[in-house]
Amino acid sequence: MTYNINEKGYYGEFGGAYIPEMLYPNVEELRQNYLKVMKEPSFQKEFNLLLKDYVGRPSPLYFAKRLSEKYNTKIYLKREDLNHTGAHKINNTIGQILMAQRLGKKRIIAETGAGQHGVATATVCALMGLECIVYMGEIDIARQAPNVARMKMLGATVISAKSGSKTLKDATNEAIRDWINNPVDTHYIIGSVVGPHPYPDMVARFQSVVSKEIQWQLKEHEDKTKPDYVVACVGGGSNAAGAFYHFLEDTEVKLIAVEAAGHGVDSGESAATSVLGKEGIIHGSKTLLMQTNDGQITEPYSISAGLDYPGVGPMHAHLYKSGRAEFMSITDDQAMTAGLELCKLEGIIPAIESSHALAIFEQKKFKPEDVVVLSLSGRGDKDLNTYINYYKL
Ligand SMILES: *Cc1c(COP(=O)(O)O)cnc(C)c1O
Repeated sequence: MTYNINEKGYYGEFGGAYIPEMLYPNVEELRQNYLKVMKEPSFQKEFNLLLKDYVGRPSPLYFAKRLSEKYNTKIYLKREDLNHTGAHKINNTIGQILMAQRLGKKRIIAETGAGQHGVATATVCALMGLECIVYMGEIDIARQAPNVARMKMLGATVISAKSGSKTLKDATNEAIRDWINNPVDTHYIIGSVVGPHPYPDMVARFQSVVSKEIQWQLKEHEDKTKPDYVVACVGGGSNAAGAFYHFLEDTEVKLIAVEAAGHGVDSGESAATSVLGKEGIIHGSKTLLMQTNDGQITEPYSISAGLDYPGVGPMHAHLYKSGRAEFMSITDDQAMTAGLELCKLEGIIPAIESSHALAIFEQKKFKPEDVVVLSLSGRGDKDLNTYINYYKL
């Protein structure tokens, strides 16, 4: 059994490219070129230099002493929150903008829900001087005004998707329509390990720098290169894919994926895709997704905008189905409690997405000698209003 992608673009039974025929040339061009381009020494050199000087990598692997004492185990935080723009998403957008340049693209499109991926995309377009169009649901534009302002300041055009539920999936439909109409000069930057092959694999490879760093950084702290556990929250699954990547085939390293249970897995308001999901096709790939009996996609809910996604990437569907990773779900309240706890114990204000991962220490007991590496996917600045309203600060 392998947990990585096969040559047909599948993780086990999940993945593939289920796309309208009109999109086939675009996706096929990318599929034929992505590995070749990523292997070029000039690509590697430019990617690594930007990760270092622009993003600020390597991100520290921080031993959280007081948090470890509280839970009587060894907890290391992989500090993606310290990256430029405040989360792991920039690792992927840097990779994809370089890919777009190599493929001769002049125009970048993206879709965004909460706006984090839109900001990461607008950032790299400014960096490279490429035109940037971000599709965003009308409702999301209203709820996420600061991120809309950021994108505009960075020079992007934000286009409102006014159809359907006026949220992420409608923005995605608009982006796909744009790509069909502009097959030659446009690259579509997808923000997580979702979408048709080769996107999940390409994004996982760009994010895999995270586990590559964990391997050598852990050696500086402990006399081993592998942790006992790697923990990460899962929306689409890109920060988890990056943190898991170099440990996927090494089953001595246990993997824990944390999903958002919202108001509770059985409440009808959650985003716990693996527990509640059934096989289906979303965003061009076969995976697990939350749907009604007749196959309509269920609106997800989580207090955290980044985990509020009805599907999960095909890698994670396979990790779930095969039992390679343990999946846990964490409610809004549990995440908010864990987020505030990290503030008080370590002086770090985490993104609410990352707080979901932190909340597992109240649910699961680890041994004192266990080394647990947790992906602190982002910082909490963007979530300040949610923290203020929740805690009446
Ligand atoms: C977007 C986001 C996530 C969720 O996306 P993944 O692709 O599952 O990693 C998690 N944490 C933060 C801080 C985010 O911005």
